[in-house]
Amino acid sequence: MTLAIVAAMREELAAVLALMPADTRSAVAGREFFRGRLHGQEVVLVLSRIGKVAAAATAVTLIERFGASAIVFTGVAGGLGAGVHVGDVVVADAFLQHDLDASPLFPRHEVPLYGTSRFATDAALTERLAQAAGAALPQARVHRGLIVSGDRFVATTAEARALQAELPDALAVEMEGAAIAQVCHDYGLPYAAVRTISDRADDAAHGDFLRFVQEVASRHSAAIVAHLLA
Ligand code: SAH
Repeated sequence: MTLAIVAAMREELAAVLALMPADTRSAVAGREFFRGRLHGQEVVLVLSRIGKVAAAATAVTLIERFGASAIVFTGVAGGLGAGVHVGDVVVADAFLQHDLDASPLFPRHEVPLYGTSRFATDAALTERLAQAAGAALPQARVHRGLIVSGDRFVATTAEARALQAELPDALAVEMEGAAIAQVCHDYGLPYAAVRTISDRADDAAHGDFLRFVQEVASRHSAAIVAHLLA
């Protein structure tokens, strides 16, 4: 059992990566993978880089080259749901690509030839991750539900409102999760994802995001990972 732990940006995983000795590192497809043991468990750690294609390529490499048997994503996201505030935590029950549109051939958001727009995360791993997030960040509110992904940093109130209107049950928006969910669906691999809310995807998002990733993101991920592996 090798658990893969993925974040998009260094700020989201720096404190966990710092625990891995340099000789656990190998480079594949332009990324550094750290393979070893953490809290007694076989793990492989990697930064996917930003966006759906980068995330999908990373997931395939984790599975095909590193024998990952489950994938956990940890990082930050913009809050969309009404009660989802900066500093809250969202654990994904399902993912959807908000920028996918092959209509009128297929319904809006449906992934062509899959017959669905939503990919569920693994129930058992998601439950473990939600418990870990709650224990790691006892002050934070932990939400469970839909996260939407797309190749856009959503940073205007107008766009955030449009997404809320279009996908009323979406709790958060980010740029990688749905791609990994689709790859894990293809391979039949368990997947779970946790995102701390760095911004509200609104006109203030850029500043909020930068502050949050510098000051809090890495600490949050490290605490959640430690509880997950404990
Ligand atoms: N490093 C660049 C760009 C970051 S893109 C910068 O400094 O501006 C934002 C990253 O955080 C992505 O990996 C995405 O998954 C997540 N994210 C956080 N808030 C987001 C938002 N409002 N919209 C989309 N992605 C967001």
